[in-house]
Amino acid sequence: MAKIPIQLQTGQVEKSKTKKDYIIGIDLGTTNSLVAYVSEDQPKAVKDRSGKHTLVPSIIYFDAQGDVIVGEEAKKQLVRHTDRTIFSVKRLMGKSYADVVQMRDFLGYRIIDHDDESLVRVAVDQRYYTPIELSAHILRALKQQVEWHLGTSVTKAVITVPAYFNDTQRQATRDAGKLAGLDVLRIINEPTAASLAYGLNRTDHKTIAVYDLGGGTFDISILRIEDGIFEVLATRGDAFLGGDDFDRAIFDYWIEQYNLQNRLDHQKSYSQKLRLLAEKAKKTLSKDDIFSAQLDGLVLSISREVFESLIESKIDRTMCLLRQALIDARLEIGQIHDIVLVGGSTRVPLVRKKLLKHFAAKVHDELNPDEVVALGAAIQADILAGNQKNMLLLDVTPLSLGIETIGGLMDTIISRNTKIPISAARNYTTSVDGQTNLKIAVYQGEREMVQDNRKLGEFILSGIPPMPAGIPKIEISFMLDADGLLRVRARELRSQTEQTVSITSTYGISDEEMGKMLIESIRYAKSDIAQRSLVEAINESNAILLASDKFLNNNADWLSAQQVQKVKQLHDQLLDAIRQNDKDSILRAQEALNQYTEPLAQIALEKTIKKAITGKKI
Ligand code: AMP
Repeated sequence: MAKIPIQLQTGQVEKSKTKKDYIIGIDLGTTNSLVAYVSEDQPKAVKDRSGKHTLVPSIIYFDAQGDVIVGEEAKKQLVRHTDRTIFSVKRLMGKSYADVVQMRDFLGYRIIDHDDESLVRVAVDQRYYTPIELSAHILRALKQQVEWHLGTSVTKAVITVPAYFNDTQRQATRDAGKLAGLDVLRIINEPTAASLAYGLNRTDHKTIAVYDLGGGTFDISILRIEDGIFEVLATRGDAFLGGDDFDRAIFDYWIEQYNLQNRLDHQKSYSQKLRLLAEKAKKTLSKDDIFSAQLDGLVLSISREVFESLIESKIDRTMCLLRQALIDARLEIGQIHDIVLVGGSTRVPLVRKKLLKHFAAKVHDELNPDEVVALGAAIQADILAGNQKNMLLLDVTPLSLGIETIGGLMDTIISRNTKIPISAARNYTTSVDGQTNLKIAVYQGEREMVQDNRKLGEFILSGIPPMPAGIPKIEISFMLDADGLLRVRARELRSQTEQTVSITSTYGISDEEMGKMLIESIRYAKSDIAQRSLVEAINESNAILLASDKFLNNNADWLSAQQVQKVKQLHDQLLDAIRQNDKDSILRAQEALNQYTEPLAQIALEKTIKKAITGKKI
């Protein structure tokens, strides 16, 4: 949602400077996590207490006393205490034991199959932890880090997840937030957050590829942005392709080049030292053409050219996955406008070089690729905060809002793309004689039938004085404020019976979900309209049937047996047509009944008028 702050006095578009409340953005990563917030309109990643790093390793160490250590300190225990140092928790989120059993060797710590539980657990000593509890430890550490930095408590957050996360994984992330004492306002997709950080939501009709190459994983997402709404068109990836492979390539190259196998076999710590040096070499080669360093008295070196030849096949694989994602999204290479780089490994110059060679798109690498997702999450959080003083937030409602009417139809009260704040009202009536309660079910979406839209809530207007069907005048008002908070009021105007409820119209719905709902409304438009006209025809027929019953009752004194018989026959024909659910025969039967009863209704009317006049004395 694009929000435009406007100065009420001057009418100028302005940015706010006053903050009431911080809502933080969190990138909960497989290898590293980080937290960011917006201050003076700039998103900032928060540094740890050492003041050096924004990245917090997503690693949890349980010491023998049962204390929990998260981050850099926990990472140091990785080699010595394999069984009590937990990493890559994100790979376990929302997964069962069977889903992850093939990763057992890679993980090093114990994962167990719980009979009564479908979700996997991690065992440390005699204690079992769910991935949700483990993630909550990381989130708690981030929360403390930002609270320490800001000097105030923080309770609200936006957390990012990969675009391919399913509902269970998203819910698990949300639960982890809750467990860490955070009110998770939104779960947003990492590629969406990265695009937000580059302000790509402000431009319309764009197709974006988000290329995310981290330490251990590669993800590609193709997004389309339209009217400020992101839609994920396709995702592809490789859960075991990343910067670690580049380190490994240098490691293997050195072993071969300098005959290091012997040292490896005889010196236990050599492998770890060599691995760390390989990573250092890789990082140096992102800016220099050559790397040289001494390790245990031996000079090891590698040039960028050699390094690139070692990793070229890996990078080609990412290009291949990108092309496959484009095919999934039914797009041509030339249709990608922007490529956003995410993850530390995109600093390897060959990545950029290959992307520029194969794609004509603008490659965004201006922001820190490690921080870009958290920065975008902070921007989304700031948009949700809407905490500008003296500002009117000009915004639009992304989906239509309405209520369910008879037959399950969606009756829109505020249409999509209406500028908010806005109020709108419509009048309704009852469909049954003597009806004293009316259920008001509020929905969001573009489809004609409420069952295809998203229910926001319902309430009952009770205490309507009994009246014949169609007589009560019930006004339903929707008041949507600048924060997207919807108040719905139902009022029976003759008796002033009233009921009001508040609903957050956008809560719990991601931009992608919104996008999906819109796309579906277009895809099903034709069948939806057919369905709507059928339901409308049925509703009208039901009213006609009711009226014809009443007519027979009220006019039994003068109608001939033959007339009564004919009305009943046409009545039953209409009933039959309704049962068959066929719009055309319903309309035909309606017409037949109307045509026959119209002259009779005229006679009835004349009789009533005559009676009224005769009774009057002058
Ligand atoms: P992430 O999972 O996004 O934190 O990515 C971390 C990966 O990025 C690790 O493999 C790092 O070695 C790698 N990385 C960080 N900085 C650089 C750099 N300057 N050049 C190449 N790779 C880097």
